Amino acid sequence: MHVEVRNLDKHFGSFHAVKDVSFGIEKGQLIGLLGPSGGGKTSILRMLAGLEQPDSGEILFHGNRVNGLAPQDRGIGFVFQSYALFKHMTVFDNIAFGLQVKKVPKSRIHERVMELVELTGLKGFEKRYPHQLSGGQRQRVAFARALAPEPQLLLLDEPFAAIDAKIRQELRSWLRELIERVGITSIFVTHDQDEAIEVADEIMIINEGRLEQKGTPWDIYKEPDTPFVASFIGQSTLVDRAADLKGFEDEAGDAGTQALIRPEYLEVGTEHEFTLLSATEPGVVKHLHFRGSEWLVEVEVGGHVLTTFRSLEKETLKPGQQVRVLVHRAYLFNKDRSWVVE
Ligand code: ATP
Repeated sequence: MHVEVRNLDKHFGSFHAVKDVSFGIEKGQLIGLLGPSGGGKTSILRMLAGLEQPDSGEILFHGNRVNGLAPQDRGIGFVFQSYALFKHMTVFDNIAFGLQVKKVPKSRIHERVMELVELTGLKGFEKRYPHQLSGGQRQRVAFARALAPEPQLLLLDEPFAAIDAKIRQELRSWLRELIERVGITSIFVTHDQDEAIEVADEIMIINEGRLEQKGTPWDIYKEPDTPFVASFIGQSTLVDRAADLKGFEDEAGDAGTQALIRPEYLEVGTEHEFTLLSATEPGVVKHLHFRGSEWLVEVEVGGHVLTTFRSLEKETLKPGQQVRVLVHRAYLFNKDRSWVVE
């Protein structure tokens, strides 16, 4: 289903929770709503579901305005963080529930439930009760139940938050595959950036009620629109005076320009490792952390401590060692604009 949201706004009392949010989602896309706690992600999802009414703005499904339509009339499926399964019902009956409500004929219900049991890898578990399942299995039942009535939009609110790390990792790729197979437009809320990057076709960064940026994970990482997005996606160090960085003096201009530098856009090494020494600047190794496959190096450059990685194959650096540092790329911003310099 094609989803269009225009100028969505929502207050809770005097608190402005969602501020003039607009976006469009193509049919079949998997979208991640990502941002810090309290930013408004769940409120946006609940307005799409019809569980909350916007103060103003429009929500269109397939070009039709759905404001005012009850949740059950919107053709959506919902999966929450807590499994919210019916405890006294078997897996089969949980999945069948939405179809029974719709008075679908019994034989069709059986057929559809068995299709979903197959699709979600729950074959053989039909007669079990929720307490006889693992957390991951319960969440798969929740997906099967949401998909049973063939919704056109699937809304997922932190679907894996209550599940432990290892299973969560498995469920992420499972979800990706499931959504691709079913081909359903889906929106999921998360505050876990790795989850959003790994699973979503596109990410929407929500902060303090605003949509800060929408794009593919790669685009957002590479070309962040705002300082907030740059610091939220990926690792980075903030340099207060970008003009202090070698090679960035002209670009940075006045003293008010700050820079965000990612570890992967920074190189640290001994003098003989650089061919163009004049492009580098002197630094001192502060700390070294062994990370299994590489070193994490903290290096002080002109009063700023920057973080970078270093391959195990290269000469091992030592704390206190004089080194050279090369900044390949930085994200600069001042009060008027933001831009990338390479
Ligand atoms: P989280 O990741 O913690 O779930 P979120 O980004 O989903 O956060 P929302 O749940 O949308 O954020 O909440 C946004 C803000 O609106 C929060 O400050 C929250 O306290 C407030 N809020 C949400 N629902 C209500 C409500 N029904 N009444 C009053 N305030 C609310």
